[in-house]
Amino acid sequence: MRQCRACRGGLFLHWRSFNALNAGEGLDAIIRFGLAIIASQGIRAALQIMRNFSAEIFAQRIERDVRDELYASLLGKSMTFHDLQPVGEIMARVTNDVRELNFMMNPGFNLIIGSGMFLIVPLFSSFALYPTLILPPAIFLVAYVIVQYFYLRKLTPVAEDVRVSFGKMNADVEETLEGLQVVKGAAQEDFEERHFETLLDEVRNNTIRQYDMEARYLPLLLLGLVISGGFALSVLLYLRGEINIGTLIAYSGQLSLFGFPVFSSMWSFSNLALGYASAKRILNIINIETDLDQNVTGHTGKIQGRIRFEHVEFGYHAEDNTPALHDINFEVYAGKTVAIVGQTGSGKSTITKLINRIYDADEGTVEIDGINVKDWNLQSLRSQVSVIEQDIYLFSRSIAENIRFGKPDATMDEIIEAAKKAQAHEFITSLSEGYETVVGQRGVTLSGGQRQRLALARAFVTDPPILVLDDSTSAIDSATEDKIQKAIWTAAEGRTTLLITHRLSQIRWADHIIVLRQGHVVAQGNHDQLMENSPAYRRIFARYDDSPRKQLTDEQVKVAQN
Ligand code: ADP
Ligand code: MG
Repeated sequence: MRQCRACRGGLFLHWRSFNALNAGEGLDAIIRFGLAIIASQGIRAALQIMRNFSAEIFAQRIERDVRDELYASLLGKSMTFHDLQPVGEIMARVTNDVRELNFMMNPGFNLIIGSGMFLIVPLFSSFALYPTLILPPAIFLVAYVIVQYFYLRKLTPVAEDVRVSFGKMNADVEETLEGLQVVKGAAQEDFEERHFETLLDEVRNNTIRQYDMEARYLPLLLLGLVISGGFALSVLLYLRGEINIGTLIAYSGQLSLFGFPVFSSMWSFSNLALGYASAKRILNIINIETDLDQNVTGHTGKIQGRIRFEHVEFGYHAEDNTPALHDINFEVYAGKTVAIVGQTGSGKSTITKLINRIYDADEGTVEIDGINVKDWNLQSLRSQVSVIEQDIYLFSRSIAENIRFGKPDATMDEIIEAAKKAQAHEFITSLSEGYETVVGQRGVTLSGGQRQRLALARAFVTDPPILVLDDSTSAIDSATEDKIQKAIWTAAEGRTTLLITHRLSQIRWADHIIVLRQGHVVAQGNHDQLMENSPAYRRIFARYDDSPRKQLTDEQVKVAQN
């Protein structure tokens, strides 16, 4: 409102000074009015700086807070959710869509609200100058509001297309880079490039459509009409002697104020439309119910380590007609070691994912210490179950930080102690910066065996009551093999350990062995029992026990089982 007054003051002075000039008043008066105009504009400038600056602060805070909330919500989503969302698409939302919200606030809303004054002021000032003069701005305003309404309605779906195609393009970049080895291996660079180009074209075409709409911006035409119409009317009134020349000039000055809102709204309304589309995309993600709740009121406490699966059924997707696991029953006593044997795709890893609720069983129950995992406090459950996956993920941080990942307050001594137990200390200290060496993304600078030992060290630091080692496909040279073997023996001591392995020595040595085939348990028991009762298991050992590496290949398991 203050600004409005300043503008009106400006108008008044403007008008008075022209009339003064016209009436042949002295230079003094004109200089006085001139100075007053400068002063009023100075005040306006100062207020405008404040407005723009606070609008920018507001926009930056919105961007920060929305991104923070989106990130937190992404971390809380289940793996089922993440399985279905391309990473690049999510990235586009976290980075660019949130950025659009910033632009929607500033310059978007800032300009719309700021220029709003320029729409209202001419209306009142025209009336003040001479009542009939209100007609052109009044007609203009009504037409302007109607035209803007339809413009926004037409622009919003186009802006949505722009955002969606951008997300798709991002997802494609991410997927191609992630699978670059496959792309190169199959010499499919050209194909991928062409595919990417169609996505690029889509983004370009949608954006051009948006700009095309902006270019056909009707308010520009309205502006031309109101200025020329208003001028004609005021000249008519002047000729009839109803207004003087000062009024005529002040009036055309007032009408030209419409220029700012009209020109700025060309961009600000696009900001609004894009921001709106982005906000929808962000909310879509945040609002998707995550089917896995944190269960904060659930059971907490130290896990002893007894695991029981009872009639467990599980499929990755609801519409799956061949579920990944079917009628799984087994029980592991606390502190024991279980080996899970079966060929690739038989469901070994899936079993382990049901224990710490990466996924939830569709039917049947998974119990730890006699309590359904769904009744455990999720945080308490997960912090006590350590899983070392086939594909060991290392963050691009230092080795020490990677080891202390599950226990951020672990001291350096604890880290070194854990690394020693994991047989990793030796190779870590041989690296140029020792524990401070930063590993590349996905641990590319380390070998498979080294990564595995780092993962074991991670587990030693958190000292979990339940340890899962998903190890079946790792191809490791025999020198490291021994070290890893040793580390695993140490790791299995004093905790329930699930080993997914093809190593005969480990299988034989396990307290309990589960033989899986296509999601079914075909046999279970200890080595001696299985040798006696299970022909499939007997075949595995009879045929391959004398193999020099004592490690089965997937093919061998398959042949033996069939
Ligand atoms: P294993 O560890 O024995 O090699 P998995 O437990 O990884 O087998 O897989 C069991 C089955 O579930 C396979 O048919 C596999 O294709 C399928 N599967 C595994 N992970 C997923 C996933 N994230 N989404 C859909 N299907 C999956
Ligand atoms: Mg697996």
